[in-house]
Amino acid sequence: MVQGNLKIHSENILPIIKKWLYSDKDIFVRELISNACDASSKLQILQDQEIIKKDETPLEIKVFIDKDKKTLTFSDRGIGMDHEEVEKYIAQLAFSGAEEFLEKYKSDKPEDQIIGHFGLGFYSAFMVAKKVEIETLSYKEGAKPVFWSSDGSSTYEIDRGSRVERGTQITLYLSEEEAEYLDPSRIRGILEKYCAFLPHPILLDASSINETPPLWIRPSSEITDQEYIDFYHKLYPFEPAPLFWVHLNVDYPFNLKGILYFPKLSKDVDIKKETIKLFCNRVFVSNDCNDILPAYLTILRGAIDSPDIPLNVSRSTLQLDRTVRQLGNHISKKISDKLSTFYRTDQKKFHACWEDIEIIIKYGALQEDKFYERVKEFLIFKNDRGEFTTIEDYLTRNKEKTNNTVFYAHEEHSQASFLQLYQRKGIEVIFSRPMMIDQALVQLLEQKHSTNFKRIDADVSENLLDPSREKTLLDAEGKTERVRIAEFFKAKLHEENLDVEAKSLASDELPTFLMIKEQERRMREMFAHHGKGDMPNLVKPTFVVNTNNRLIQSIFKMRDTHPELAKDMVRHVYDTARLAGKELNQKQLGDYLNRSTKILEALSS
Ligand code: ADP
Repeated sequence: MVQGNLKIHSENILPIIKKWLYSDKDIFVRELISNACDASSKLQILQDQEIIKKDETPLEIKVFIDKDKKTLTFSDRGIGMDHEEVEKYIAQLAFSGAEEFLEKYKSDKPEDQIIGHFGLGFYSAFMVAKKVEIETLSYKEGAKPVFWSSDGSSTYEIDRGSRVERGTQITLYLSEEEAEYLDPSRIRGILEKYCAFLPHPILLDASSINETPPLWIRPSSEITDQEYIDFYHKLYPFEPAPLFWVHLNVDYPFNLKGILYFPKLSKDVDIKKETIKLFCNRVFVSNDCNDILPAYLTILRGAIDSPDIPLNVSRSTLQLDRTVRQLGNHISKKISDKLSTFYRTDQKKFHACWEDIEIIIKYGALQEDKFYERVKEFLIFKNDRGEFTTIEDYLTRNKEKTNNTVFYAHEEHSQASFLQLYQRKGIEVIFSRPMMIDQALVQLLEQKHSTNFKRIDADVSENLLDPSREKTLLDAEGKTERVRIAEFFKAKLHEENLDVEAKSLASDELPTFLMIKEQERRMREMFAHHGKGDMPNLVKPTFVVNTNNRLIQSIFKMRDTHPELAKDMVRHVYDTARLAGKELNQKQLGDYLNRSTKILEALSS
């Protein structure tokens, strides 16, 4: 057997790097600034370890634009490179000096983090430049300045340079089609996006980019609430102040720092929007943490900084990465701990924040059983008495009366008279939201508590009836009043697919309602949600008429004296019930309004 080494020719690989390594060209700025930052941090480490003498030179990184020469220049006062180092680190592809340096000069200080490690970043300059020149002078005593130049092909020039100050200057001669990078506001935008939290001052045309230190690297005990809030505004200038936050700081088994904020959410929050900023050693990487965090946590805002998240790996393999999974679990645990402490220490405030945090709690409970177990104690619903309750507590109070059913309504459009019906009987109703997440949650809670959820208009349980007021007298045909009213309404409506029932309800106020069985309604909502349109055949509604209501009685009495008006009024109370149940379409609503006028005219003449 013969073993061999794969031979890679740089003339083949360079175009690939240029084209494929980074999908976003702007990244070259991040890479060159990161290198300059690293060079400055390394110098600081050498000074701190007294390997070289401290001097007063500020370790600033400067960016210059020369529109005439069409160049972009990055200069630093870091450790610089000598001839040998340029040959080794710059001229050899995929050879990073970062690891070698760290091996040699170990430092435990978090601010001494070195960013680079792939050894390819520098070459990203060739994504936009037709030529790159380096002028550098090493910190080493007696070092000679070095000049290096390359047009991005596989050859380069190296010579004695002219630099007199320690540090490195990299000049990019931009290609014609990359002239946008000569626009200062364009470069400023990129610097602010990627480099806002880097540890050494970055100046563009003498104005500073990174004045705010990244709050997440400081110990939480030293940070005031106002500082947390100010930092949030720095990250999201147009957002209202956050509700509360969690400061993350992990050293083992992975490195992670960050601050996650609970934002004040609008009701129609777009949960797919990317909002948490991901950093790697303070360098901004992405707004997209979707593959790193469980989906329910991506509703949060803030920053996480971890050198342990693989950055250049395909996103779909990320979820399989052990560290990434551990990281997601850790954050999830921290978030539920925070919520739990919040709930236990200040329930009033917790309730006040509920509308903003419920989506995270509900979504999390649905996605992850572990999370559900941790939040179930405060997975609450508002009830018709304006209090908050868990399902467990609801069942303890109502189980006997409701035959183990949980009655719910949508607060936004539930009729007061309907609620009254339940209130008269002392049955509590909880409010859920008419959104998909609540519908899914209802199913989860049904399983967890071995119960049934029913919307209040899904059933007329025995509880809601008042049999004592039912007129049981039979007429000549042997029918009760209840049967005759139902038959009359059914006959006037001419609706094939409709059952009509007359009931002696416990409350007089509610004249009618449209009853759709819970499971049928759920099925229909599911179809609608999945964009499959209406499935009318799934649903056979029942129109319930209250025999104890005055209007119903009057309409029934008018059947012989004013048959036309009675017919219109039957249709009208039916449409009113459909309106309340959000069942009227645009055309039907128009008819309804016209009929209102017609009936009022008839009644007032
Ligand atoms: P990485 O940053 O991932 O190590 P690069 O290709 O960007 O890879 O850089 C390779 C090496 O070149 C760096 O590790 C460093 O040793 C050296 N280098 C690059 N830029 C500078 C600079 N501005 N000052 C000093 N050394 C530098």
